[in-house]
Amino acid sequence: MESDDYLMISGIQHFLFCRRQWALIHVENQWDENGLTAEGQVMHKRVHDASVRDVRNGIVTIRGLRLKSEKYRITGICDAVELLPDERGISFAKLDGTWRVRPVEYKRGKSKIEDCDRMQAVAQALCLEEMLSCEVNQCAIFYGETKRRETFDITEELREKATDVFTEMHKYYETSYTPKVKTTPKCRSCSLKDICLPELLRKPTCKSVKKYIEGHIAEED
Ligand code: SF4
Repeated sequence: MESDDYLMISGIQHFLFCRRQWALIHVENQWDENGLTAEGQVMHKRVHDASVRDVRNGIVTIRGLRLKSEKYRITGICDAVELLPDERGISFAKLDGTWRVRPVEYKRGKSKIEDCDRMQAVAQALCLEEMLSCEVNQCAIFYGETKRRETFDITEELREKATDVFTEMHKYYETSYTPKVKTTPKCRSCSLKDICLPELLRKPTCKSVKKYIEGHIAEED
């Protein structure tokens, strides 16, 4: 299997925000950076730049761990993985005792009703389960704007939803499918609104931004 077949876990939030946004970034390789995403990236850099491993109140934290799932063909980096002492947990080289594993994702904004952030953390948990041959039952998300941490259990419903999302993402990727523009209030905060050209691409004949731009270049030549 080619490494290109692996989709970025971080793309799940784009996909759930807007399928078209995800396809523009991950299928068409278009990218733009607005203030919101730039701020988010600085925050992630800070998290990943921190010490690789630290221990506080008996919890071991490993930062910037690379993740991969062959089953779901997804890959990415986990901001932090916490190891909590648990007699039913698993053991690690160079650590005494047994440990329960919990991924922690850092987000710039605040907690949302939608599952987009939770889905990303669940995807990380599924990778950790496969990589460590263990069960991961809980995730946490730290929100920078509110400085609050949300911890949640991974329910069967969240697992099924994540699996369905991976399947749909792979289908779009394999067929190089970019959905047409469907303007919603989300477009106002979308980092790709200038590239997406929502007003112009509403025409049914314009299927791809790349083709649209290529068409304009050809007209100018
Ligand atoms: S501008 Fe709107 S339709 Fe276009 S990618 Fe962003 S959210 Fe999706």
